[in-house]
Amino acid sequence: MTDHPPGPPDHESPPDLISPPDPESPPDLGDVPELQDIALTCRRLAELGWSEATGGNLSLRLDGGRFAGRAATTATPTDLPVEVPRLAGRYLLITGSGTRARDIAVDPGAGVGLYRVCEDARSYVWLAGNDHPTSELPSHLAIHDVLERVRPAHTAVVHTHPARLIALTHLPEMRDARTLSDTLLAMQSEARLHLPEGIGYQGFHPPGSLEMGLDSARHLQRRPVLLWHMHGALASGAGPAGALDLLEVVDKAADIYWTLRSSGVAPTGLDEADLRASLSRYGKLDRYLAAFTDDPTDTGAR
Ligand SMILES: [Zn+2]
Repeated sequence: MTDHPPGPPDHESPPDLISPPDPESPPDLGDVPELQDIALTCRRLAELGWSEATGGNLSLRLDGGRFAGRAATTATPTDLPVEVPRLAGRYLLITGSGTRARDIAVDPGAGVGLYRVCEDARSYVWLAGNDHPTSELPSHLAIHDVLERVRPAHTAVVHTHPARLIALTHLPEMRDARTLSDTLLAMQSEARLHLPEGIGYQGFHPPGSLEMGLDSARHLQRRPVLLWHMHGALASGAGPAGALDLLEVVDKAADIYWTLRSSGVAPTGLDEADLRASLSRYGKLDRYLAAFTDDPTDTGAR
């Protein structure tokens, strides 16, 4: 016996409640929980004031298994200016051209698009959501192709404009990855634990250019955070929040650096012995010591 009133026989249930998704229908962004991860990170970027106007962009690569059989699209493939062999058949969420971080935080489905890289690894198709990707889509794909090889857990790429980090690139002495890394990551005792390989520095490229993206992909092979000359920062991470974590670590260090300089104090940072003791405790000393070996941007012995 049951107290429940008798319901309609199964065969009378509304078909739209029991039917599985049409296997030929394109993916619905509502089925992609990572969209909320992007929204939360965009909210934080807006709160921090790092993505003024429509500045910055963000992408997240996804495994394709969940969309198997649901990738139907009538969109014409768009050719890529680069080959991304490790991404053939993979999916990418990426922010749209001209979108604001603060708007994506509220309505990510309007500002973020879902794309699939074609099997030829030289073209892509739009599947759902925003269909006007940032002009830097080829650059993002080139970076994701490298990440898939060197740090596959880093599924997200975030580009933004933190003022304190851009200000650092105005200092000639900071236009060098080793000096930048050793100065900035000595400002706080946990900073280097997050980034034992340090921070990259990249000279000027015209904003949005493919050469900027390809150069960034080269730099990100070694270090997950990169400062662009008088432009902004780029980071890879385990999801959008992971990339943002690294950027916030570097920005905190820059905050301390600029506070000291503004007070007339020359920042000296952690003693080398203390830094090495911290890294050793967490098993990261070897990564620190090897960070600039065989690196063409290296400028001297540690
Ligand atoms: Zn930018």
